[in-house]
Amino acid sequence: MSVADARAAVCEVGRRLWQRGMVAANDGNISVRVGPDSFLCTPTGVSKGNLRAEDLPIVDGSGQVLGGGGLLPSSEIRMHLGVYAVDPEVHAVVHAHPMYSTVWAIKGEGLSGPMMPETVVAMPEVPLAPYATPSTDAVPDSVKPFVLSHRACLLEHHGALTWGTDLEQAYLAMERLEYTAQVTYLLRQIGGERYLPADEVARLNAIFGTGR
Ligand SMILES: [Zn+2]
Repeated sequence: MSVADARAAVCEVGRRLWQRGMVAANDGNISVRVGPDSFLCTPTGVSKGNLRAEDLPIVDGSGQVLGGGGLLPSSEIRMHLGVYAVDPEVHAVVHAHPMYSTVWAIKGEGLSGPMMPETVVAMPEVPLAPYATPSTDAVPDSVKPFVLSHRACLLEHHGALTWGTDLEQAYLAMERLEYTAQVTYLLRQIGGERYLPADEVARLNAIFGTGR
């Protein structure tokens, strides 16, 4: 993907996050790897529903601005860079504050349990990264342990983070995470959290090549 295509794709994902109510005001941020040590990201202080391609900065792995945009990067870019540092296969990171995911993040409970075939296969567990003060190195340090083993985590007292081999995968992980968070919330209201039996989970993992 060219840098120009990456700029357009980030703006489009920003619109989708905003339209689905996954970001309030200027919350959330998106980044894409555009070189071995260069990352296109969203600027600070701008609604994700109204991004302009030419404003997106490019930073290196230490957060140094390499240029490419008129505005400063989000202060949360260090969290993204922490994910890229762990896994060179990761090419995109999405951070948002979707309503139900954030509710679980504030409660301090990750999402787990094989309630649907789709979650068994695509996102069997969403761990909770412990709270860390924004803008400190504690934030990337809190998510690094989950990067290789998962594609999403909740950020305690904060929101949600997803990553993937491309931007579409990272975005779709955010949709699936929020859907799972909402389903889990509603099921708990009616005492309805039921898990698929272990033999069916094993069968699904055998068919789709998932599980551990
Ligand atoms: Zn945030």
